[in-house]
Amino acid sequence: MNALKRLFPFHGGLKTVRHKAESNQSPIQPGILPARLTVPLRQHIGAMAKPRVQPGDRVLKGQMIGQPEGYISAAIHAPTSGVVTAVESRPVPHPSGLPDLCVVIDSDGEERWMDRQPVDYRALHPSELRNVLRNAGIVGLGGAAFPSAVKLNLGGQSEWLETLILNGAECEPWITCDDRLMRERAAGIVAGLRVMAHLLEPREVLIGIEADKPEAIAAMTDACAGTGYEVRPIPTRYPSGSGKQLVKLLTGKETPVEGLPVDVGVQCFNVATAYTVHRAIDHGEPLISRVVTVTGHVRQPGNIEALLGTPFAQLVEQCGGYRDGVERLIMGGPMMGFALHSDEVPLTKAANCILAASAAELAPEQSVMPCIRCGACVEACPADLLPQQLYWHARAREFDKARDYHLFSCIECGCCSYVCPSHIPLVQYYRYAKNEIWAQEKEKEKAELARRRHQARLERLEREKQEREAKLRQKAPGKAPLTPGPSPTRGEGSPDPASSSNP
Ligand code: SF4
Ligand code: SF4
Repeated sequence: MNALKRLFPFHGGLKTVRHKAESNQSPIQPGILPARLTVPLRQHIGAMAKPRVQPGDRVLKGQMIGQPEGYISAAIHAPTSGVVTAVESRPVPHPSGLPDLCVVIDSDGEERWMDRQPVDYRALHPSELRNVLRNAGIVGLGGAAFPSAVKLNLGGQSEWLETLILNGAECEPWITCDDRLMRERAAGIVAGLRVMAHLLEPREVLIGIEADKPEAIAAMTDACAGTGYEVRPIPTRYPSGSGKQLVKLLTGKETPVEGLPVDVGVQCFNVATAYTVHRAIDHGEPLISRVVTVTGHVRQPGNIEALLGTPFAQLVEQCGGYRDGVERLIMGGPMMGFALHSDEVPLTKAANCILAASAAELAPEQSVMPCIRCGACVEACPADLLPQQLYWHARAREFDKARDYHLFSCIECGCCSYVCPSHIPLVQYYRYAKNEIWAQEKEKEKAELARRRHQARLERLEREKQEREAKLRQKAPGKAPLTPGPSPTRGEGSPDPASSSNP
């Protein structure tokens, strides 16, 4: 039976130039141990991990150096053994270019591991197992970096799971780290998937891989033999690897606007995330490295399994260095990635690709023209939005209206900008509008907090005033005590006869 017959195409999307062959021809290389690693304590969605070390501390490879804080958080670990030389703000890979709190470790070159204990996951209560993953720092490695322990807990979201999807689509041009991982480590990915399926107990497990990765499809199909998990090749169409689009493709289900796949009984994880679950459970190793594609205008593009905290410049160096004419360094792919301010920033859990882009890889600068209402963006939008309406409202700062047009369902895939004949940088307007709305909401929260604090202060002052008055009444001659006690003699604050229990 042809698996493609059971697919449900999503609206819109693009056929893009793939640029996969540049980096997917050679095996994953081990990264070179850097002399210094800079490890950000915020490498995931949610609360920053709380530092557990201070300058001068010696650490072992895999030792927890950042404790998860709150429910949505994940632990951070030392990628190698050495000495902590600083816990301070350092530049990190983020579109804002702002620094963030990092633990800086000078490597001792010995790579001395902490004690590693494999886990018999079937013997653990689900909450204990999720805690093992949370303390191992497991987050989504497809780019979102959402803590996996939270997604592996259906409590409150859904009582049952119909479908567990493993995402091996890797639809964005240039990126090939998942392709190489599936080709080379399919058994490990499936071992991690088994742990996820044990926690979620789905009715079916589907693995979506774009049809232009025949070696990965073959390796994953072999590894899944006898498990009941089904590998489904999907058409090579961007953004088939985006969560909601993959859910639609494989199950036919529409994720609600501003909802999550779990709302329709589906949960998705990236193949690399499943692999790190396997390392954590079967080898007792926390998440301290990842496979990253280094490609574009570098001499030997490829994939490196690098320690988190490795400077991007060192990874580029390992790939032969820059070729002449690099204009921009992008983290992620050309469609959804962002430009970096420096190549000295460290590798993080979310970094699946470093793209050294020359003018040839970047879209040529073209002057922006007025919108001609051609509707090409509507045709291309895989989220079924009206991009030109969103653009008008974002541009006019009519943020409520932009929300009414489901701004927050925009996955920032860039399909609309890509096809716009007027070269309008549409996604930039959506990001701007989202940031403005978030900033306004933060301001509102701050104002509400200030209001509540002010109210609490007024109540405290009033309470203290009443307590003072009560004390004064107690001391004043001829007044009744407020608390029962031995009857004072007359003339020493005798009780009010009306309130006396012994008239
Ligand atoms: S594609 Fe560009 S020009 Fe056409 S409607 Fe959309 S925003 Fe306007
Ligand atoms: S960037 Fe947003 S609006 Fe544009 S095509 Fe993608 S989902 Fe639609």
